[in-house]
Amino acid sequence: MKLHIKNFGCQMNKLDSSLVTSALIDRGFELTDKAVDADVLLMNTCSVRAHAEERVMSHLGHLKRVKKSHPDLIVGVIGCMAQRLGEELLDHPAVDLVAGPANIARIPEMLEEVLKSKNKSIAITEKIRRKNPQTETDTLDKFELAHDSDENHIHGQAFVRVMRGCNNFCTYCIVPYVRGPEISRPPKDIIEQVRRLGEGGIKQTTLLGQTIDAYTYTEGGKTYKLADLLKMVSEVESIEWIRFITSHPGKFDISILQAMADLDKVTPYLHIPAQSGSDRILKAMNRKYTASQYIDLIEKARQILPDISIASDFIVGFPGETEEDFQATVELVKKARFKNSFVFKYSPRPGTDSANNLADDVGEEVKRQRNLDLLAIQNAISEKDSSKLLGRSVKVLVEGLSKKPHVNMTENGNNPQLIGRTATDHIVVFNGPETLTGTFTAIRIEKTSALTMFGKLE
Ligand code: SF4
Repeated sequence: MKLHIKNFGCQMNKLDSSLVTSALIDRGFELTDKAVDADVLLMNTCSVRAHAEERVMSHLGHLKRVKKSHPDLIVGVIGCMAQRLGEELLDHPAVDLVAGPANIARIPEMLEEVLKSKNKSIAITEKIRRKNPQTETDTLDKFELAHDSDENHIHGQAFVRVMRGCNNFCTYCIVPYVRGPEISRPPKDIIEQVRRLGEGGIKQTTLLGQTIDAYTYTEGGKTYKLADLLKMVSEVESIEWIRFITSHPGKFDISILQAMADLDKVTPYLHIPAQSGSDRILKAMNRKYTASQYIDLIEKARQILPDISIASDFIVGFPGETEEDFQATVELVKKARFKNSFVFKYSPRPGTDSANNLADDVGEEVKRQRNLDLLAIQNAISEKDSSKLLGRSVKVLVEGLSKKPHVNMTENGNNPQLIGRTATDHIVVFNGPETLTGTFTAIRIEKTSALTMFGKLE
């Protein structure tokens, strides 16, 4: 039985897909990267932006036609959109299975049942914001522990979830309603998993959490915070680099920065979305910090870790955002000097506070222009700061072949182009043997641009 799984979402979704894939392979499924060859097609969906949901609906429209000639094809919709729309999705003529993120452990069983009975099946969590009963949490913990993320996705790297859900309720965000309340995984499970991944050849682990700096787990009278967890993961010998994403600036604890400074294996990279530089908009977003508090935190990070690279996210065109508010965001970007920023145009998500209570009153053209302007400002900063790497030797973890050609292929004895990342998350393209994939190597930087560096093997 061939399985194809399509991802529409964030790193959290990709990890869920990996775990489900691993569980299905254990049950005899074979993974195919060609959707046309699949007997079972799973779509792991995202609800964070309207565009992601529209893409899924358009795929389903196409699959409805495909199923006319392939009536045995099983189509499952899993992930955040499945939790948000539930029965509405199950009613779609192309859909056989619907499962929300809190129900991924049930997917193998559900699928076997659907294949046998040809009946539709659904597993979503009613009242997802109630404290999950222990049994549900235990089931997810066990599933997570039994199925490691697919280390071949990027050779030598693996993602490990340390917590689920979110308690922040940013007014634009659907995540707390589809992924439920914050629940941290037991440190001993996380360490066991990291150790196993390390033994299997993993060099870098990225710890995942929607608001990872909020990690808290109490056991045997001791409370473990993210700084403690980073120390414990550092003690796993075979792991060489540790990353963690994503942080929330609201209650970010300085002990995390201290742990980053003290622990050589923790890379000096922070993804900490600011979202806006206007206090008025930050308040309307319910972000629980001001622009100056954010800048103070960034400055503190740079005092403790002078080489830290920081990335951010922004939403432009949030309801009520004036030109003055936008200029405050521009100012923040100029002050913070991020390595890179992801900029999104606001789109109201049904069921969120901002969609329910605030008019989407910034015109599409204004949103588009602000998006372009902010990216251009960020680009100029990235270009200037990246140029400081020129001529330097950097250590990269090689991810594999570069997807698009960047430099002359004949350089370096006709070796292919490879792509790697520095500890500071800078992308480096160079020519080298593909066998370097999954290993660390030194590259001399010869050319820089805003987002990509180019160099030669040393
Ligand atoms: S912190 Fe805010 S933006 Fe991030 S997942 Fe939670 S609610 Fe969404």
